[in-house]
Amino acid sequence: MSGAGWEAVIGLEVHVQLATATKLFCGDAAEFGAPPNAHVCPVCLGLPGALPVLNERAVELAARAALALGCRVHASSDFARKAYFYPDLPKGYQVTQFEHPLATGGRMTLDPGPDAADGGERLQVRVRRIHLEEDAGRSLHDRFPDATAIDFNRAGVPLIEIVTEPDLRTPGQARTFLTRLKRTLQYLEVSDCDMEKGSLRVDANVSVRPAGTTALGTRTEVKNLNSFAQVERALRYEIERQLRLVAGGSAVVHETLHWDAGRGVARSVRGKEEEREYRYFPEPDLPPLELAAAWVAGLRAALPELPDTRAARLRRDWGLPAYDAEVLTASRPLADYFEATAAAVDPKLASNWIMRDVLGWLNRRRRSIRELSVTPAALAELIRLADEGRITVARARHAFGRMAETGLPASTVLAEAERAQAGEAERAQASDAERIAAWVDEAIAEHPAEAARCRAGERRLLAFFMGQVMRKAQGGADPTETRRTLEERLEG
Ligand SMILES: [Zn+2]
Repeated sequence: MSGAGWEAVIGLEVHVQLATATKLFCGDAAEFGAPPNAHVCPVCLGLPGALPVLNERAVELAARAALALGCRVHASSDFARKAYFYPDLPKGYQVTQFEHPLATGGRMTLDPGPDAADGGERLQVRVRRIHLEEDAGRSLHDRFPDATAIDFNRAGVPLIEIVTEPDLRTPGQARTFLTRLKRTLQYLEVSDCDMEKGSLRVDANVSVRPAGTTALGTRTEVKNLNSFAQVERALRYEIERQLRLVAGGSAVVHETLHWDAGRGVARSVRGKEEEREYRYFPEPDLPPLELAAAWVAGLRAALPELPDTRAARLRRDWGLPAYDAEVLTASRPLADYFEATAAAVDPKLASNWIMRDVLGWLNRRRRSIRELSVTPAALAELIRLADEGRITVARARHAFGRMAETGLPASTVLAEAERAQAGEAERAQASDAERIAAWVDEAIAEHPAEAARCRAGERRLLAFFMGQVMRKAQGGADPTETRRTLEERLEG
């Protein structure tokens, strides 16, 4: 990054759609991909007199995420109306948590992993707050010429917003943080985190300041970041832009920027609204959200093993290198698959096979590990056959591809592979016999007198010919086969 003596300060706001069956305040389905406006009712359309009822499952998932990120889940939080006008916001306000959010004060530790772009330093990223809120609808600009269509299926779908402190310093760190956050949320089964469906959306706040100072510079907010790679790219762009501004003696203007991934530029959309313009107002139709300490404690006790802990355990229990442990804990089903395979064969072999062949195949076919028909037991069997030399590694890898591709049972494919291997061995033996026969014929042609004596009954000369053939073969001829061929050619 240019601008020696300067550093960037980055904070993230991450919106995550909770994996509930229904919306936050009504019974409409929260599923993705239904026909437009299939899932709407008076509550999520904001019709007069409709009353919201809070979805308990959404509260549970939000609290689970907060606990996993080390936040304090508050005994009492409340909802507010955030008023703004937008065509896809039928109520004219969004119900969110403002003054008293669900949870505050968490952190995520980024260990210098293989994907860390931070020069290998351990980094604490503090989580300022996590709050519950409802999503807005969606404006569709490409359905009808000269008209905008609105789909309210998403209106009222439950989200959490995760807000970090500005603890990140480089675009690479931001990407690492997001990757870890997504993995954690997926382990918790709080969200599918599918960015293509909009289940995870990121806004980034960024400013620059002289390195070593603590005051924050004027920040801009970059929106429309639809992949982690784009987050990194947009931040790089925006930091460079701000550094050029300050180097030229200009000031950074506080504003919201829209990232245009196609052109690789961030454009100003509007002056950033001041918070007071939203006129936050306590939601009169929803009582404060009260959570019993015992309920929160129960959620905490039921948290699954999280990815960092699991990676540490894979290193310890299975003796895996840090790199392997990191790759294999990318998702819970993948880590489960590894452990089931490693229980039956050498863990490092299992790891190598899964990282190279299983992940390679899944990436090429754009499938997930859950869709793989090759069971851990079948893979272990394949690894064992190759390890014991009963089939070559190349043939075993081919057999894996065939099992994955066809869904044929392991027994069929393995029998096929073993048969092919046996056929190859037979052919190899046959070609050995031909080579030996050629050396025998050569030796006889070179020593016609000895051959004649041998045929006449001087059988000890067989040992002489044996030596001749062995010399030609430089020890590479099978003695039994050589002797058999010599006897056949030198019969009396
Ligand atoms: Zn509804």
